[in-house]
Amino acid sequence: MRTLTRCYKYRLATHPNPRRNLGPVGWLPTLCLELGIALQANPLPNTAFSNFFAKRAKYPRFKSRKVTLHSLRFPQGVVMIDERTISVPKIGLMQAVIHRPLQGITKGATIKQDAMGAWWVVFVCHIDRPDVQPTADRPVGIDVGLESFTTLSTGEKTAPPKFYRRNQKKLARAQRKLSRAQKGSNNRLKAKKRVAKVHQKIRNQRADWLHKHALGIVRRFDVVCIEDLNIKGLARTKLAKSFSDAALSTFMQMLHHKAEWHGQQIVKVGRFYASSKTCHHCQTKTTLTLADRMWTCPTCGTTHDRDGNAAINMLHEGIRLLAVGTTESQNAAGDGVNPAKRW
Ligand SMILES: [Zn+2]
Repeated sequence: MRTLTRCYKYRLATHPNPRRNLGPVGWLPTLCLELGIALQANPLPNTAFSNFFAKRAKYPRFKSRKVTLHSLRFPQGVVMIDERTISVPKIGLMQAVIHRPLQGITKGATIKQDAMGAWWVVFVCHIDRPDVQPTADRPVGIDVGLESFTTLSTGEKTAPPKFYRRNQKKLARAQRKLSRAQKGSNNRLKAKKRVAKVHQKIRNQRADWLHKHALGIVRRFDVVCIEDLNIKGLARTKLAKSFSDAALSTFMQMLHHKAEWHGQQIVKVGRFYASSKTCHHCQTKTTLTLADRMWTCPTCGTTHDRDGNAAINMLHEGIRLLAVGTTESQNAAGDGVNPAKRW
């Protein structure tokens, strides 16, 4: 048996009695004070400081009570009573939209508010999954990029989803309204909500697309060989917007989680492996610029599609690494393959 951690998120419904609603800003901290629960220091400042000390971010800016998203973690005690009620310590019964059953053993829950002002409960659960004998019957190599989001070694290409760009006009309009609204006014709050709504729409569209795409790959193949991308480095270049839009790192995470869930393997090929410029046919290395989408091998004369060739190389290298096994992944510090390492 393997124990996996999964989250289940449910929206908290508004209560018919307005006094019991998780309503306006400031509700949770006030309530915690009233009830004498120690508000486990808003997790956000902590993240901000640890990011700062790890040199990932600037010194955290002051966050007003009005803008900070509220979140409260309960290590235990949040229980699902029936298909529409949860019980929260000190707060009591709350209505939630239980759109799917909670599975596994609950290891705590968080109640939080999103930018739209909606309240959610997130359960962290440990779930036992049966062991699966790993097979390598259906391997695939994947090249990820901007021109084509994924190129499989079978030759299939998937165009990148451009949800951000598609909604850019809508977003700009909402942001313009926000910037024109008078500070501190009710209209400003409304405008803010509209901006948040567009962002949420983009997020939802993107997540939906990525989930489906990743699951499709995991369902079809049992070994996925993929490049260990330096996404942080790429996001700093001028292609940054396209990169964040493509959400490659989220995709990698999803792929990893789904493979883990289904008992399949992900082989990460070191990022310094020259997958694009090596001819998969005769292993000749050439020099290519980023603009070269098609190229012909000077030795064997094969014409390659850049991404397709890279995907096939990824497959070959992944299978080789898999065959060499753990010995290789242990001593290949950094740029080797380490399937156990998280994205
Ligand atoms: Zn060649």
